[in-house]
Amino acid sequence: MNSHSHTIQQNFYRVVDRIYKAAYQSGRDPDEVKLIVVTKSQPLEKIQSALAAGAKRLGENYVEEANLKIQSVQYEYQPEWHMIGHIQSRKAKAVCESFDWIHSLDSVKLAMRMNRIAQEAGRILPVLLEFNVSGEKTKFGFDASEKTRWPELNADIEFILGFRNLLVKGIMVMPPFDPDPETARPFFRKACELRDYLIKSNPEGKWLELSMGMSNDYEVAIQEGATFVRIGEAILGPRVS
Ligand SMILES: *Cc1c(COP(=O)(O)O)cnc(C)c1O
Repeated sequence: MNSHSHTIQQNFYRVVDRIYKAAYQSGRDPDEVKLIVVTKSQPLEKIQSALAAGAKRLGENYVEEANLKIQSVQYEYQPEWHMIGHIQSRKAKAVCESFDWIHSLDSVKLAMRMNRIAQEAGRILPVLLEFNVSGEKTKFGFDASEKTRWPELNADIEFILGFRNLLVKGIMVMPPFDPDPETARPFFRKACELRDYLIKSNPEGKWLELSMGMSNDYEVAIQEGATFVRIGEAILGPRVS
């Protein structure tokens, strides 16, 4: 127990409850929606509180930061670690060694590198392809901002689906930040349409997962089909950066 435990436990239960209700009210099976607690820039004691409350999946943006936390909590809690931040080429090996899932596979070049590293490590890495559905220049991801140009993505996607040590499980998106969650809805809807398009155009892929929704808009994301929500501050409180 530490000074944060009680608040974090309450936050965690509240979020889990809202996830459940958002899924149920939109006619979805609540078990389809998996919570990732985003622990970047959060102190270890808060992370331990979230794990004690029942968090099973943790999300991080930087591998060095993640490794310190993995060392501290893995033995006791065995959470699953999800990489959700942009991956620099020179960090690819460390990322592959430390994480169970990659949400931010955002280029063919990175996919080639990750595949080779995973092959050398003798593992098959579950990955999501990150798409930029808003066209914002500051965002990473394959450019999927214009629907009419989705067919142009097929060559890259087919190439990535051919990698034997990457298991493509779906897509990840991050709409522009806006305090009003309704602003994100059209982007979530577009992401869901993109996923359906990929199921049709590249049926050899297993496009089950849709990683979208953060602290301020996860209920809207769930209404629009999210299967992973990535939630930080609503559970752990403000980040110190
Ligand atoms: C930080 C981060 C989150 C969590 O954001 P919150 O607003 O704290 O819920 C989710 N996804 C990504 C990619 C992030 O970088």
